[in-house]
Amino acid sequence: MQVIEAFRPLPQNQNWALDGLKTYMSAEDAIADEQCNDSVHLFYPEKLMETARRFLAGFRGTNLYAVKANPHEAVLKHLWQAGVRDFDVASLREVELVAKTLPGANLYFMHPVKSRQAIRYAYAMGVRGFSFDSLDELVKIEEETSGASDLKLFLRLGVVVKGAAYELSGKFGAPLDIAPLILQRARVSAQRLGVCFHVGSQCMNPQAFADAISQAATAVKAAGVHLDVIDVGGGFPVAYPGMEPPALEDFFAVIHKALDANGFSGIETLCEPGRALVAEAGAVAARVELRKGEDLYLNDGTYGALFDAGVPEWPFPIRLVAADGRETSRETIGYRAYGPTCDSCDKMAGPFPLPADVRESDWVIFEHLGAYGHSMQARFNGFYSETMVAIVK
Ligand SMILES: *Cc1c(COP(=O)(O)O)cnc(C)c1O
Repeated sequence: MQVIEAFRPLPQNQNWALDGLKTYMSAEDAIADEQCNDSVHLFYPEKLMETARRFLAGFRGTNLYAVKANPHEAVLKHLWQAGVRDFDVASLREVELVAKTLPGANLYFMHPVKSRQAIRYAYAMGVRGFSFDSLDELVKIEEETSGASDLKLFLRLGVVVKGAAYELSGKFGAPLDIAPLILQRARVSAQRLGVCFHVGSQCMNPQAFADAISQAATAVKAAGVHLDVIDVGGGFPVAYPGMEPPALEDFFAVIHKALDANGFSGIETLCEPGRALVAEAGAVAARVELRKGEDLYLNDGTYGALFDAGVPEWPFPIRLVAADGRETSRETIGYRAYGPTCDSCDKMAGPFPLPADVRESDWVIFEHLGAYGHSMQARFNGFYSETMVAIVK
C-alpha cells in the first residue's frame, strides 16, 4: 500500500476525490492486504470518470446524477471532478450530504412525495427544483416555500412504456388524463415549469424514451401552457450477463430525435442517470465461508450489497479469486449462493458460473455493482462491510 503511493503519487485533486479511501492496483491486492472479515467494496474511479464524460459529451442537456444509486462521497467527488454539477436527491439526508460534500452543486428534489419539513429545509438550503405528481403535493411545495417566485417545478408524468427490467411506474406519476389540469395550475407558481418521468430502471429499449417523450408532448399540448424544461429521467441500462443493451449513445440519439420531433428542441433538457453512471464503477468481493456441494455460503448477501442478486435475481458478471493463488479448474459449475445472515430469504439463486473447484476462503467478485449495492446494505445480524477501497491502475 505505502509502496504504491510512494511510487505513484496521486495529484492533489485526486486525493480530495478519493475521500480517504485506500488505493490498490488490483482487487487481488486489496483482498490480500485488507485481511478483512467482511466483504470488500471495490471502487473504480477511472471507470466512473470515463462514464461520466460519456454522459456529459453525449447527452445534449444537463446530467443530474441520481444520488440514491451510490451516495458514497468518493463517488460524488469524482463525478464533480468529471464535470457533473447537478444532482437528483430524494430525501433530506441526500440534500444534506450533497450540499455538505459539494457546496455549489445544483440540487433537484425529485421525489414526488416529500415531508413538509423536507421541502422547507431544502428550500432554505438553496434547492429550487422540486417534483410532484398531484395537486396536493404542489400546494405543499407552494406553502412550505412561502409562495416563492423562483421555483423550478416538475410534474412527474405517469407515462406508460415498455422496456425496463425494473418497473417504476407502479408508485408515482400523474395519470396522463389529469396531467394537463395540474400543469395549468403549476404554471401559476412556477418560475420555470417542467415535466419529468421515469421509464423504469435498466431500460433495454431506447424507444421507451421516445414513447414517453411523445406522451409528455400530448399532455403539454392539452394543457396549452408554455413549458420551460423537459426531464427525461433515469433508466439508462448497463450490460449484465444475458442483458446486452444498445450503447448509451443510441439512447441519446433516439431521445434527441424524439425531443425534436415533439417540439421540445428549444427548451432546457435534463436527464437523471443513476445506475448507468455508477454501476460499472463498483464491485463487491465476497468470501466463501463454506462450500456444501453446489451451494456457496458467502459473507455478503441480500441484506448486504447483493439485494439485487437475491430478490430480483439479477445476474452480475462474476469471477473467482483463489485464496491461495492456485490455477483454478477450467470446468465451471452453476452455483447457488447464500448470504451470511440467519434469514432463509438471504439466498441468491444464481446460477453463478464459477470454476468447479471453488474452495472455502476463495473470493467471488461481483462486478457492475457500483449502483444499488453498497448503498442498500443493512446491518442485520451484524453482517455488513465498511471496507471500501479504490482500485487505481
Ligand atoms: C431512481 C431514480 C433515478 C435513477 O434511476 P436509474 O434507473 O438508476 O437510472 C432517476 N430519477 C428518479 C426520480 C429516480 O427515482
